[in-house]
Amino acid sequence: MADFSLDPEFEEQLDWIRGFVRAEVEPLDLAFEGEETVYNKSGRLYSDVIRPLQQVVKDKGLWSCHLTPEFGGQGYGQVRLAYMNEILGRSQFAPTVFGNQAPDSGNAEILAHYGTAEQKERYLQPLLDGYISSCYSMTEPQGGADPGVFTTRAVLDGDEWVIDGEKWYSSSLRFAAFVIVMAVTDPDVSIYKGMSMFLVPADSVGLEVIRNVGTGGEPEGHGGHAYVRYNAVRVPKDNLLGGEGQAFEVAQTRLGGGRLHHAMRTVGAVGRCLDMLCERALSRTTQGELLARKQLTQEKIADSWIELTQFRLQVLHAAWRVDQVGGHAARKEIAGVKVATPKVYREAVLRTMQLHGALGVSNEMPFSKMLMASVTMGIADGPTEVHKGTLAREVLKSYRPADGNWPSEHIPDRRAAAREEFAELLEIVAAEH
Ligand SMILES: Cc1cc2nc3c(=O)[nH]c(=O)nc-3n(C[C@H](O)[C@H](O)[C@H](O)COP(=O)(O)OP(=O)(O)OC[C@H]3O[C@@H](n4cnc5c(N)ncnc54)[C@H](O)[C@@H]3O)c2cc1C
Repeated sequence: MADFSLDPEFEEQLDWIRGFVRAEVEPLDLAFEGEETVYNKSGRLYSDVIRPLQQVVKDKGLWSCHLTPEFGGQGYGQVRLAYMNEILGRSQFAPTVFGNQAPDSGNAEILAHYGTAEQKERYLQPLLDGYISSCYSMTEPQGGADPGVFTTRAVLDGDEWVIDGEKWYSSSLRFAAFVIVMAVTDPDVSIYKGMSMFLVPADSVGLEVIRNVGTGGEPEGHGGHAYVRYNAVRVPKDNLLGGEGQAFEVAQTRLGGGRLHHAMRTVGAVGRCLDMLCERALSRTTQGELLARKQLTQEKIADSWIELTQFRLQVLHAAWRVDQVGGHAARKEIAGVKVATPKVYREAVLRTMQLHGALGVSNEMPFSKMLMASVTMGIADGPTEVHKGTLAREVLKSYRPADGNWPSEHIPDRRAAAREEFAELLEIVAAEH
């Protein structure tokens, strides 16, 4: 039986997080917009404001709660993380202040699992302490959803790997101290055995950022996602993470948790949409009555509340499953949540945006940004279609084909079997009439 209950001590912590995020962190979203401010860890904003806030979080014992105590975290299970991330999802800066922002959280997990002692000291520790940023470089210009089209190559030359190729949409590379790069090491076997993962320092000779790309709404030439070329970039042999040909096992370390955490934060964003929807409905009058009294507004509120409640429970259930059986066995639940996330978010934003009229589509409200964020949720970490395929295949595992030509629910066969079972009684009942 799923159990999402909270102990009173943790509830108190959640109350504290809620108040802290609202009072201390949300103002940062308004004062310092843009991805660069979140990922640039060398500027004054970090030293003067964010680090002190991070220290408050550390003193409260709430830093990097997804990591085990060995790595300075709290070892929280996913259900606890779900409740916590729901609050953090209301602010762009909150994950950074609490030490669990993507892609660093996933990359830290990879280094923790596969890094050498020296790599951990040089990259993992400062990453965990919030002193450097990192990047994950997998998608290529010719395709992201199908790794079969990846061509970036890594070849062993003496004691060094030489990496050649182009990657696309490598988020936060411009502020990263290191990049985790997926490359083909054996083109003669299936991609699932022929790709490997590498740790590449961001200042490596030959690493060339062709341009930084943004999402819609950002000016051209600006943005946090790098189109990058690796021109014969050389890294030591030890920078292979995991074994040769193990890129997909290594990648799994970060993606399962990451997808779930995006969904948890989206619960917070969808909750924010409902809050704004209800406030507007109770504040705006048209044709002599509040919008809240219009049935079509009530439908929006009811739909938004129902979808938020369903989605929140779905996310909590997936989190609980991961806690019970682990990420691999909970693939179905994680894929289900990944598919639901952009849809629920987009619908919630659209309803709230609509109810705000011209103000809703203006740049004075957060909706257009939220709308773009909801759409990107259906693409980043793999498109919805691919995850629907995974989900369907997992669901199908518990079914088998029907015997013969007719479905097992085919009425004539079932009725004949039922009639045979009750043949005697049927005769008696017929005689009674
Ligand atoms: C905000 C954001 C951040 C990102 N950050 C990173 C990052 O840090 N590192 C990184 O490596 N990548 C990153 N990506 C890239 C992301 O992983 C890819 O965009 C994604 O895997 C899809 O690849 P693609 O864009 O090449 O689309 P394609 O693979 O070309 O797919 C395009 C569309 O085709 C359809 N499609 C694809 N496959 C199927 C299928 N099997 N069945 C049916 N339809 C299908 C879908 O509609 C899909 O959206 C990021 C993307 C976004 C939007």
